[in-house]
Amino acid sequence: VTTTISPKQQALAAIAELIGDAGIVALDDGERYLVDHRSLYRGRPALIVRPASTAEVADVVKLCNGAGLKVVPQGGNTGYCGGATPDTGGDAVLLSLERLRGVREVDPVGYTMTVEAGVVLAEVQRHAEAADMLFPLSLGSEGSCQIGGNLATNAGGTAVLRFGNARELVLGLEVVLADGTVWNGLRALRKDNAGYDLKQLFLGAEGTLGIITAAVLKLFPKPRARETALVAVADVDAACRLLALARRESADAVTSFEYLPRFALDLVCRHIEGAVDPFTERHRHYALIELSTAASAARLDEQLRSLLEQGLEAGWVIDAAVAQSEAQRGRLWRLRESVPEAQRAEGGSFKHDVSVPPARLAEFLTRGLAAVAAAAPEARACVYGHIGDGNLHFNFLAPPGQALKDFFASHGERVSDAVLGLAAGLGGSVCAEHGVGQLKRPLLTRYLDPVSLRLMRQMKAALDPNDTLNPGKVVPPPVP
Ligand SMILES: Cc1cc2nc3c(=O)[nH]c(=O)nc-3n(C[C@H](O)[C@H](O)[C@H](O)COP(=O)(O)OP(=O)(O)OC[C@H]3O[C@@H](n4cnc5c(N)ncnc54)[C@H](O)[C@@H]3O)c2cc1C
Repeated sequence: VTTTISPKQQALAAIAELIGDAGIVALDDGERYLVDHRSLYRGRPALIVRPASTAEVADVVKLCNGAGLKVVPQGGNTGYCGGATPDTGGDAVLLSLERLRGVREVDPVGYTMTVEAGVVLAEVQRHAEAADMLFPLSLGSEGSCQIGGNLATNAGGTAVLRFGNARELVLGLEVVLADGTVWNGLRALRKDNAGYDLKQLFLGAEGTLGIITAAVLKLFPKPRARETALVAVADVDAACRLLALARRESADAVTSFEYLPRFALDLVCRHIEGAVDPFTERHRHYALIELSTAASAARLDEQLRSLLEQGLEAGWVIDAAVAQSEAQRGRLWRLRESVPEAQRAEGGSFKHDVSVPPARLAEFLTRGLAAVAAAAPEARACVYGHIGDGNLHFNFLAPPGQALKDFFASHGERVSDAVLGLAAGLGGSVCAEHGVGQLKRPLLTRYLDPVSLRLMRQMKAALDPNDTLNPGKVVPPPVP
C-alpha cells in the first residue's frame, strides 16, 4: 500500500524537524495559546511552533507559504479582539514569538533600544530603567504582553497623551514577510525619508502583512519627579477643562489623564483585594492625573497644588487625593488598572473601544449614555478610560443576576449601534486602541469608507498574495 503525503503534511513535518522538540507545543498542552484572553475564540491549528530566532521564523513562514498553510503570529495573547487565535480549519500554524527574547542593544547616546519581538513589555521598561532611561508605553497587561504584539496592535495605554501610541515609539523594524523574506529595517534614524516609511505598514497591521521579529525603540530621559492624584471632578466636561489647564500650568508635563466613574470605582472596591476608595464622600466622576518630568529642579508638587486650587475655584474639582509615596501612587493606579479585572469578576462586559476628538468627549458621553439608556434601560454602564487622548472604553454590564451573553444576545446590537453610530457621527473611530482582529472586522465594513477599504485590500494583496499571514483578521473580505 502506498500512502501519499500531502504538501501540507510534508511542510508540517519539515517545520517540526527544523524547530525541534523545544519549539513545538503539543496541541493537548496548548490551551493558553489556543484560547484568546477573553475566551471568545478557540482555535484549532495544525501545529503550535515557538521558533527561537528570526531565521527560524523566516523558514517556518517560507515552508507554510509554499505549501498553502496559514501562519498566525502570537505574542502574549492578551489582545481583546481574537487577532492571535487561528480559525478552526486546521491548516494554520500558530507561531508564538515568545522565544525571541533578546535585547540586542541599549544605546544611551542615541536613546534607543533594539529588542526582539518576544520581550515582555515590562521587561523592556525594566531594561530602559536600568540604563537610566524610560520606555513610556504602559498598559494594564504589561506583565504578559510582548513588544511585538504591542507594535502589531499599535497599542495605546496610559501615556499616549504625552508620548503617543506604540507606533510613535518605533524607529526601525525587522520583519519576516509573507514569502519568508526577512526585511531588515532596523535603522535607528530620527530622519529617514528615503522613500516610503515601510515600517508603518507593519505597525498596527496585527500580523496580516508581516511578522515583526525585532524593533528599534525610542527611549526618553527617566523621570526625576512624579506627582499623582485621584481627583473627584464635577463631570467629564470639568475633567477635560482641568486637563487643558494642567497642560498649560505644567508646561505639558501631564503624562496620564484617566477617567473613572463611580460605578467603576465601586466595582474595583468590591472585587479587587485591598482596593479602597481614598475619599470619605462618594463622588460621581474621577480623574487620575499624573505629571512627570525629567527636570530635577522642577517643582511638580507646587504645580499640582496650584492646578487643584484653580480647579476648585472654577468648580471643576470637588476633592483630591494626592499620593504622598510610591506605595500610595501604586494604590491609586491600581484602582484604574483593575477595572477590566473587576468587570470580569462582576460577570464580564460588553465592550466598545472608541475614540472621539477630545473636544467632543463630554458630548459623546452624555449622548451615548442617553442613547443606550433608551435602547437597553437595564444595561449597567461602565464607561472609563484614557480621556486625555479621547479614548473611552464604553462598556456595559448585564443587569445583576443575568448572564452577559443572554442579555446582550437580545440587546447587544441596539447598544452597539447607539455607541458606534454616535462615535462615528462625531468624527471618531470604532476601533481606538484594541485593534480589529476577527472580532471587529465587520465594523470596518460598516464604518470605513470604500476608498479606505479598497486601499487596505490592495495592500494585503500586494504584500501577501496567498493570504498566508493571519487570514480572516483586520481586512474585511470584498462584498460579493
Ligand atoms: C488587563 C488588560 C489591559 C489592557 N490595556 C490595554 C491598553 O491600555 N491599551 C491597549 O492598546 N491595549 C490594552 N490591552 C490589550 C492588549 O494587551 C494589547 O493589544 C497588546 O498590545 C497585545 O499584545 P500581545 O503581545 O498580548 O499580542 P497578542 O494578543 O498575542 O496579539 C495581538 C495581535 O498582534 C499579532 N501579533 C502578535 N505578535 C506579533 C508579531 N511579533 N508580529 C506581527 N504580529 C503579531 C497577533 O497575530 C494578533 O493579531 C489590555 C489587555 C488586558 C488583558
